[in-house]
Amino acid sequence: MADKEMTRGAQLRETLIYKRKNGYDRMSEGDLQAMEAYCVGYKQFLDAGKTERECVDRTVALAQAAGFKPYERGMTLNPGDRVYRVNRGKAVMLAVMGKRGLDCGVNIAAAHIDSPRLDLKQNPLYEAEELGYFKTHYYGGVRKYQWLAVPLELRGAVALRDGSVVRVCIGSGEGEPRFVINDLLPHLGAEQAKKLMAEAVPGENLNILVGSRPLADDDGADRVKLTVLELLHEKYGIVEEDFISAELCAVPAFNASDIGFDRSLIGAYGHDDRVCAYASLAALLELGTPERTAVCMLADKEEIGSEGVSGMQSSAFDTFMEDLCAGQNVSLNACYEKSFCLSADVTAAYDPNYAEVYEKRNSAFVNYGMGLCKYTGARGKSGASDASAEVVAYVRRVLDEAGVAWQMAELGKVDAGGGGTVACYMANRNIDTIDAGVPVLSMHAPFETVGKLDCYMTFRGMRAIFNAK
Ligand code: MN
Ligand code: MN
Repeated sequence: MADKEMTRGAQLRETLIYKRKNGYDRMSEGDLQAMEAYCVGYKQFLDAGKTERECVDRTVALAQAAGFKPYERGMTLNPGDRVYRVNRGKAVMLAVMGKRGLDCGVNIAAAHIDSPRLDLKQNPLYEAEELGYFKTHYYGGVRKYQWLAVPLELRGAVALRDGSVVRVCIGSGEGEPRFVINDLLPHLGAEQAKKLMAEAVPGENLNILVGSRPLADDDGADRVKLTVLELLHEKYGIVEEDFISAELCAVPAFNASDIGFDRSLIGAYGHDDRVCAYASLAALLELGTPERTAVCMLADKEEIGSEGVSGMQSSAFDTFMEDLCAGQNVSLNACYEKSFCLSADVTAAYDPNYAEVYEKRNSAFVNYGMGLCKYTGARGKSGASDASAEVVAYVRRVLDEAGVAWQMAELGKVDAGGGGTVACYMANRNIDTIDAGVPVLSMHAPFETVGKLDCYMTFRGMRAIFNAK
């Protein structure tokens, strides 16, 4: 409106007030096409990787195809070199060497590739009234009722006494059998329905139905269990005792799919946090030779506190970084103090159906872009790695300069609950860190929902961070 003068109020509104905008209002036709193409790759990544081990395998395959080599200690590296190291098959670190030395610090994206699920116990198989079951122990924060009466598949690994490892994947292939945890029928559920949601389904009731056919021509005990064991032995060469050294888990038996008439969303198991893991990985794989070395860390065990040798608290990450630093005679701590980390993890998307737990002014909205969290934690920010104002300003600038749609995100109302990420473990290493990631609807459910625009913008955000000088 060049010919018409703006009122003073309109001018002030224009310059002073912070406006949030739906990301679709700033997407070009080219952006929309790039978003769709990106999401095709993401959905493939989801279907291939439903456990951290599988995500590592898929990551290594993609990395090798993009010219990455396994890093060996003492290797001489030059700018542009691309390397990775796998930690015990469950976590993976990748780096693209920058033009500048490691004494200038590195740009890190740290995401996790474990997701809530049902792990099998170490002595899982039993028979009750001629039905065969697996006992489970849930992993991560699950709402137990959501795992009843949904098709499940079995994935994982069985380590045998001789050191060999048998990989298990059953239920995802065309025509393969699946598994299920049965629920109570409503006709007999009146008493249960009066219970608190958290108590209605005890953890010890999450028993997976795995068979019902008794062994023929036999009058001994546990004939159904024996049939199941015989089939497992035929297919995988394992016996019951081998469950003791197995990591098998039940995950939802549905693949990623578009959601909505307009196909603007993706429904899948494990968006948390493969949606950020894939964004970080995809951005790293397409990187040329960055100014600063770019590092992508895909960690395990975030859902249970980032503990253990494959979690973000493990010094496996420090060892990898120290090895890279040793090649340039740089001390690890000197590298860390100049480094920047984007703790790439999902946040909650505002859900109008549960408006009471959100605080609208500070919530992330679907399609408003990558969500930045200055802090996570619970109650008085307990457990948060509260990023400094300067760090937030830095990220604002980097994302704006790269044309990335982003928004600030707080999980929910102050006293409604909370959550944590790997951010505090990176910050404890003296690395400036901020949380950022995709807003998710029904987080931690067997089938979570995200907006394609937010997935794509998170990828663009990672790319901007890796390219930052
Ligand atoms: Mn997460
Ligand atoms: Mn989570």
